[in-house]
Amino acid sequence: MDFPRRGVMLVLASPSGAGKSSISRALFADDPNIALSVSATTRPRRTDEVDGTHYHFIDVPTFKRMEVDGELLESAEVHGNFYGTPRARVEERLAKGRDILFDIDYQGTLQLYEKCRDDMVTIFILPPSIEELRKRLERRAQDSQGTIAKRLANARREMEHYDEYDYVIVNEDLEVSTQRVRSILAAARLERKRFIELDGFVNDLQSQIDAK
Ligand code: 5GP
Repeated sequence: MDFPRRGVMLVLASPSGAGKSSISRALFADDPNIALSVSATTRPRRTDEVDGTHYHFIDVPTFKRMEVDGELLESAEVHGNFYGTPRARVEERLAKGRDILFDIDYQGTLQLYEKCRDDMVTIFILPPSIEELRKRLERRAQDSQGTIAKRLANARREMEHYDEYDYVIVNEDLEVSTQRVRSILAAARLERKRFIELDGFVNDLQSQIDAK
């Protein structure tokens, strides 16, 4: 029996190249109840990215205006660009019992912890080794060597916070890691605190006993 429930905010974090995008894609492919929170960013669009699907690509004044008007649930500067989570879609999905996945960095996760800890489950993805991380970054043709060095330095910093996430997955095998994320999400969906009308249901069971 299913009760109405609030959606889960699932945060997947990792250094770039640890595989979180591949895991998210695999998750979306067979789970229609979870969707990506599409962030707003001032970073230039890469050629394989679609505006409105991967990000909402906006200019700095628009980003600043959204921040001032409270339209962003969290925001951060990463690699010299601004990123933020538009608030409206998140609130709408959670209220309808639909889950939402966040691909955000540590600064953003901290802001969400302060505002919506009860709705959140957080997972940190680690690469199996630094050789593998470097290889994955090098395969991304659009990142220059300078950018790769910057991202490795950033990866080191991001890893410092692994112990502030609810779960850690070492992503050696995409299929295994995706399955682990699915299990975590399945359990999170069943947490008591998400069920909206449970009090009424239990009261009703008790009244039925009382009436006998
Ligand atoms: P990329 O430019 O490679 O797509 O993303 C760079 C970093 O920005 C990643 O670590 C990603 O998790 C982070 N990021 C993307 N969107 C957001 C967001 O809305 N908020 C925050 N805090 N970080 C984000």
